[in-house]
Amino acid sequence: MALIKLQNVEDLYEIGDILGSGHYGQVRLVRELATGTSWAGKFLKLRRSVSSRLGLERKSVEREVEILQALQHSNIMALKDVFESKAEVVLIVELIGGGELFDFIAEKENLSENEAIEFMKQILKGVGFMHGKHIAHFDLKPENIMLLDKEQEHPHIKIIDFGLAHHFTQGGEYKSMCGTPQYIAPEVINYEALSTAADMWSLGVITYILLSGMSPFQGDTDQETLRNIVAMNYEFEDQYFSLTSAMAKEFIEKLLVKNPSERMTADECLIHPWIKPLTRKQAATRSRSSINMKNFKKFNARRKWKMSYNMVWACNRFCRLQLLCKSSAKADEELRGCESDQEDTETKPASLLRRRLSSNS
Ligand code: AMP
Repeated sequence: MALIKLQNVEDLYEIGDILGSGHYGQVRLVRELATGTSWAGKFLKLRRSVSSRLGLERKSVEREVEILQALQHSNIMALKDVFESKAEVVLIVELIGGGELFDFIAEKENLSENEAIEFMKQILKGVGFMHGKHIAHFDLKPENIMLLDKEQEHPHIKIIDFGLAHHFTQGGEYKSMCGTPQYIAPEVINYEALSTAADMWSLGVITYILLSGMSPFQGDTDQETLRNIVAMNYEFEDQYFSLTSAMAKEFIEKLLVKNPSERMTADECLIHPWIKPLTRKQAATRSRSSINMKNFKKFNARRKWKMSYNMVWACNRFCRLQLLCKSSAKADEELRGCESDQEDTETKPASLLRRRLSSNS
């Protein structure tokens, strides 16, 4: 279990190159002086005063630390140490050097459904463990699914970024409007009480994209995307799903279900015949099917292009869209929380913000 240290991180670690960045600060390569081991350091800037809108609230950083401490699983990024000072908190986490799963796949010539399923299984095991601890990630998307080492024969999945995660307590209702448009569940858009099932919707979207290279609800604008989600407006177009097995489509259909309580859970997914075939015939169908690599490569190239523009999504945008916002005092409070980091993007007029909205729809 990681302990919070009040020392200077530099006393114990050498700080190296930037590995990535988010609205909160940066993720950097760090080397432990005592052992020479490399780790990643997530430097989270804290809000200086209650009135300041820059940086993260200490409370939300503490929440992320608590959640990571509770999640010790081989498919979830491990937390080693936490350093805390007045201005920032530094999380020392395991170094995940294999890049994003989607980038790894996009480099391949082809990928069978069988191979895709091996990755899905690992994601589901990580998510199932998280949900078993009553924790929802609330920001599952390709950018947050990484590989420990892409040179391994069977690369190991690691789920990252628990900045929007929530630990449910018994009887506690939780609502949030944060997330990334393409991947958020209808109940998030409708500002309804949330559960871990919202993550299962996102996994349905991720699986759909993985198999076809198409995003099921993507509209020309975020507004249209949100409308499509709420209207459940998606289909399996033959031209993109010609290589996909019927079992895979059924798997997705059981995740893209409007009523959260009727969606498959991670444990149910793990025993769905697409993931765990019951008969030889099912296993054979699966191994004959493959992902639409040509289209997947196109999707990934577009995704990376958007990321390079650092298109960040704002919760307050929900409000401006008006079509989906509920105006309750609680919603206003929530939106204020989500708006809190906007000053960071003043140099990017095109940016849309969300709280730590890591990215890019
Ligand atoms: P996050 O805000 O946690 O999603 O991190 C922002 C970016 O930093 C990610 O998209 C990754 O590229 C990189 N990153 C985050 N955590 C790690 C890690 N443990 N090891 C290597 N790179 C990381």
